[in-house]
Amino acid sequence: MNDIRDLYQEVILDHGTRPRNFHPMKDASHQAEGFNPLCGDRITLYLRLEGDRVLEASFEGVGCAISKASASLMTSALKGMTREEAETLFTKFHEMLTGERGGPIAEEVLGKLAVFSGVCEFPARVKCATLAWHTFHAALERKEGTVSIA
Ligand code: ZN
Repeated sequence: MNDIRDLYQEVILDHGTRPRNFHPMKDASHQAEGFNPLCGDRITLYLRLEGDRVLEASFEGVGCAISKASASLMTSALKGMTREEAETLFTKFHEMLTGERGGPIAEEVLGKLAVFSGVCEFPARVKCATLAWHTFHAALERKEGTVSIA
């Protein structure tokens, strides 16, 4: 188990310090800003959807390693997904983080997002890990202004 923990920690650090999809998008069809006042994390999320499918996802922002890693892994995971698939993934991700569902982590469902499983032991960091996802929701719903998740 400790080996898995170390591996997860490494992935978070890697994505936190060298986030993927970290750039603005000129031809975004959806965009939203998110803010986590508890930690000071800020993110601008860009999406390009065709019909119901996410073709491209990218982000910019400042924040802690967890918030950046989460946005990095989320934008990677979203590419090619339908809105419904993304919703399902978010529900599972949220259940894992809040510990609503006990038992083993469904890595086959969550894929790389399982690296955040340890975050459920640190409730204050859950918002860091979910900020990108709440911002994703706001982008889909075309909400104006900044989404604050406190
Ligand atoms: Zn944070």
